[in-house]
Amino acid sequence: MKSFHYARATGRSDATAQAVKDAAFIAGGTNLLDLMKLEVMTPDKLVDINRLDLSEISETDDGGLRIGALVTNSDCAADKRIRDDYPVLSRAILAGASGQLRNKATTGGNLCQRTRCYYFYDTAMPCNKREPGSGCQAMQGFNRIHAILGASDACIATYPGDMAVAMTALDALIEIEDSSGDIRNVPIQDFHRLPGDHPEKDNILEAGDLIIAVILPPPVKGKQVYQKVRDRASYAFALCSVAAVIKMGEDSIASAALAFGGLAHKPWRDETVEELLVGQRPSTKLFGKAADHLLAGAQGYGSNDFKIPLTRRVLISVLKEATQTGAAA
Ligand code: SF4
Repeated sequence: MKSFHYARATGRSDATAQAVKDAAFIAGGTNLLDLMKLEVMTPDKLVDINRLDLSEISETDDGGLRIGALVTNSDCAADKRIRDDYPVLSRAILAGASGQLRNKATTGGNLCQRTRCYYFYDTAMPCNKREPGSGCQAMQGFNRIHAILGASDACIATYPGDMAVAMTALDALIEIEDSSGDIRNVPIQDFHRLPGDHPEKDNILEAGDLIIAVILPPPVKGKQVYQKVRDRASYAFALCSVAAVIKMGEDSIASAALAFGGLAHKPWRDETVEELLVGQRPSTKLFGKAADHLLAGAQGYGSNDFKIPLTRRVLISVLKEATQTGAAA
């Protein structure tokens, strides 16, 4: 591991002021420390934010919840308000990592975790995300876990998390404080980036930007579902996951929010798929049409071609469960 400076932040303004270029914030460190040991990430300085006052889940004036950035994944998943009103979030978190990791991993850190592309972690291999301009070994290599939507010629990596997929279906906001003390709320859909020509940038954070909370809007009454398909039953990243928040009317779908994990460089949301469902009576035919629409632009790269039919099946299964219809043809 390369040597680095360490500083413990005494407050938010101290943290953002210390996080100049080539510094990184550390909280749980469950991904960052691995990356530093492998010398995939080599920050000059670590700014420890663990003593900041960001570990509360509180109710917002409009009936939503504000989850502090240092709330651990275990505490978030176990919170009664989350389990009762945002069960999709609790289930998504519990589908990720292991109990030990969830006890350390934080809400802010989970959002910032990096891809698990094998070549990103192997410093002997070319990787545009790790070393811009060096190439992408995954494109012609083993790409079982890679993207089928929104990829670019520079990078086909996926965002690996579960929590952010559920938060995307819930229309969460990310509260960010910058080094001048200004606070802005960014819709989670705009937080993570597609790779484009700059796969080295995973999200919109700039130097000194500190995630301080995630804000959930008031809960949608209806059915919330999270399904995750992976190579083993636990402690594995999603090959495909779907978070759904569906509200039924008398005999048709009143509202639908769908987000997908394991398919793209960010939690994937396509509101045209949701529009196609709203106002319609649930049926297997309708769900197949939604899957066709979602996957119209999907592209496999060899080892991950299976994700296209897999995603179709998972989406149809989730929609059947969420509409509680059994969905006749
Ligand atoms: Fe690197 Fe992205 Fe290619 Fe993986 S897919 S090798 S992260 S550029």
